[in-house]
Amino acid sequence: MQHVVEICSNCETETKCRRRDFSEQAWAVLVLWHEVQASAVDRPICEHCYNELREVLIDRADEIEEIIQDMDRDRGQPAATGTSGRSGKSAAGRSKVRKVS
Ligand SMILES: [Zn+2]
Repeated sequence: MQHVVEICSNCETETKCRRRDFSEQAWAVLVLWHEVQASAVDRPICEHCYNELREVLIDRADEIEEIIQDMDRDRGQPAATGTSGRSGKSAAGRSKVRKVS
């Protein structure tokens, strides 16, 4: 279950990876800022990436709060990344990549 050697979904290093329990909003923000690859969301990532991401989340906690509020106002929920079969929510998350210009 833990300490499996896998390919990190973010930096593609083969090392010990674990799935990290960031919140859905935290992942969304990290992807928005290109701190993590969208394909790495909810996937096992390595210790190094985890530490980096966690630092970003801590450093920019205020900004994250604002962005999350914007997201809520905007769409109701951040873009889900291909997680199928989610119960409860009406709209199935579109895996549309939003371009940030
Ligand atoms: Zn990594």
